[in-house]
Amino acid sequence: MRDNRPAYWGQRQAREALGTARDVAGTSLITAARRPARPGRFFTVHLGFTAPDLASARELAVGYAEALSVLRPEVALGASALSPAEAWQQAERLFCGASGPDGERCADVANHPGFHHAPGPGGLGWGDGD
Ligand SMILES: [Zn+2]
Repeated sequence: MRDNRPAYWGQRQAREALGTARDVAGTSLITAARRPARPGRFFTVHLGFTAPDLASARELAVGYAEALSVLRPEVALGASALSPAEAWQQAERLFCGASGPDGERCADVANHPGFHHAPGPGGLGWGDGD
């Protein structure tokens, strides 16, 4: 009859006799990573749509970006850009992104008139208004 003990039973028994089995058994082969996890990298998604002209396309793109940022908080609204299809090198920023006095970024559309505005209702306004 075949012995159904573990394959390394003999070796384990020998280590127990030597007092090293506890050291080996307490050590898992799978341990936590020694280095911290990498920070998230930045990626870009390209969406296609049709519009009659650039001004209309810019307005639609701002709407798409704002709507997506409401649904998914990881979306970086300030990094949104618009370009003609097949001309990524001509991308223009959709949002102002000017730096505020407390490190906030302007959430208004690019080239907007008046003060810059921090995101959210009642957000801080700064700059040279009309
Ligand atoms: Zn601004």
